[in-house]
Amino acid sequence: MPHIICGAKNCAYNRESTCGLPDVHVAGHLAKKPESTCCADFCTDPRCVAPHPSEFARVECAAEFCRHNADGKCDAGSIDIGGCRAECSEETECDTFIKRK
Ligand code: SF4
Repeated sequence: MPHIICGAKNCAYNRESTCGLPDVHVAGHLAKKPESTCCADFCTDPRCVAPHPSEFARVECAAEFCRHNADGKCDAGSIDIGGCRAECSEETECDTFIKRK
């Protein structure tokens, strides 16, 4: 279960640079670089309330070309989600993405 460091401060689930969700979904099915991934759970709707403030979360990830992707789950010890000015999901990215060789 990766430690989540999240810079997407505009997301309603962001809690002091971590994520309030117990399950995080990263998108980027054909991504070959971090900029082509994103956090699919990014939300600015005030009704998005963090149910589970914790530094750790299960991470399901569609970025199958990432070295840390193990059958759709992230096996990194820690992930860094970028997007300090993000206003939508597509403006975030997983900066821990490393392309598989
Ligand atoms: S490190 Fe790789 S597998 Fe883990 S969430 Fe980021 S893109 Fe997905």
